[in-house]
Amino acid sequence: MRNEIANFRDCKSIAIMGGTFDPIHHGHLVTAEAVRHRFKVDKVVFMPAGHPAHKDNRQVTHNEHRYLMTVLATMRNENFEVSRIEIDRPGVTYTIDTIEELKKICRPDVRLYFITGADAIHQIMTWKEPERLLAMCDFVAVTRPGYQKNKLFEEIGEIREKYASRIHYMEVPALAISSSDIRNRALKGEPIKYLLPQEVEDYIHKFGLYQHAQQEEVKFMLPLEVMQEKLQSALSVKRYIHTLGVADEAVKLAEIYGCYEDQQKARVAGLLHDCAKDYPKELRLRLCKEYKIKTDEIMEQQTDLIHPFLGAEVARREYQVEDEEILNAIRYHTTGRADMSLLEKIIFIADYIEPNREKFDGLEEARRLAYLDLDMAMKYILEETIAFVKERGRLLHPLSVEALEYYKNR
Ligand code: NAP
Repeated sequence: MRNEIANFRDCKSIAIMGGTFDPIHHGHLVTAEAVRHRFKVDKVVFMPAGHPAHKDNRQVTHNEHRYLMTVLATMRNENFEVSRIEIDRPGVTYTIDTIEELKKICRPDVRLYFITGADAIHQIMTWKEPERLLAMCDFVAVTRPGYQKNKLFEEIGEIREKYASRIHYMEVPALAISSSDIRNRALKGEPIKYLLPQEVEDYIHKFGLYQHAQQEEVKFMLPLEVMQEKLQSALSVKRYIHTLGVADEAVKLAEIYGCYEDQQKARVAGLLHDCAKDYPKELRLRLCKEYKIKTDEIMEQQTDLIHPFLGAEVARREYQVEDEEILNAIRYHTTGRADMSLLEKIIFIADYIEPNREKFDGLEEARRLAYLDLDMAMKYILEETIAFVKERGRLLHPLSVEALEYYKNR
């Protein structure tokens, strides 16, 4: 048994301090101590995330650096521990997996609190198995001064009511310190002294961390395999297989009609085109409001039409895709629109003809046209789709009508 586990396995109550800790700073330490005091927990276990599921727009510093900085920062407090559970677990870091692991090694009656930034709590319904997670531990949402709390309170209230969960709230003035500010300061050569423990500052200098801007410029932070793993947990098996088919088909079309850059983009857009499709209806509607996605009457009546527009926003926020071309390919992959870009057409067509599709009338013709001329394939697929929509008595989106008009006249 690892020592770290021996140090908290018999505790009656534990607060888990979840975060990327890139780097850990005094705001985190003050928060942990304040929570320990308020909730009278035996230990606070710092849990640096391995491959954060919802990361910010940059590459995260190597796990071992973040882990060691957290150890250095917490070593003077006997009530603080640091866990390698997430650092050592391969794949994307999901809190539910961590809580399950802790429940297995701790006393059966242990009370667990999960402390994290309010922004993360805000997104909690998009986490893996949120309802089960909310039932397994208390959450403590901490904010820094100046945080707009009204929306957070509203959401906490809704979640509490709906899932009978326990979400607490705490404002921590010391969280005026932030990891991103420390990184920016280090990059500009400005002092970071007194914002974090001296040992952590020494460590940052020793290993030259946060000195290069290029870390912040990476366009897709999630490596493709991490993206796929995340998608696999967000989608049904059938949809995931379809997604892989669309990505492969899109790359093939991009090879024929585009350049190398298009192939890369085609893979990402293909993988993510349905990333929000399995979200339940309520979550779709709530996220549209939250992300300020305009919905029209047709989308509201036929909520399936929301998924491409929401998907683009989820791709931006959850998968850190910044490229507008990719986001538009996701956004218009269901309705189409007039005068689509090469990538938009590729994803629209790949979605229709991907190799894992079960046979249906018109599939072979669509495949034949796709390898002959993309605009002809667009016209054919739009005609077939519009006929199908009408036949089923479903509502037709005006974007599809405009698209067909456009491709008929090409
Ligand atoms: P993050 O990138 O480290 O933090 C986002 C924001 O919240 C930052 O402003 C950060 O401030 C603040 N923050 C984060 N953790 C904090 C803490 N414990 N105390 C005070 N402020 C904190 O982290 P994240 O990606 O939002 O993830 C936070 C935690 O939620 C992690 O443990 C992560 O694994 C978990 N999570 C799980 C799922 C899932 O299971 N699907 C999804 C998302 C997040 P600083 O930059 O100053 O730290």
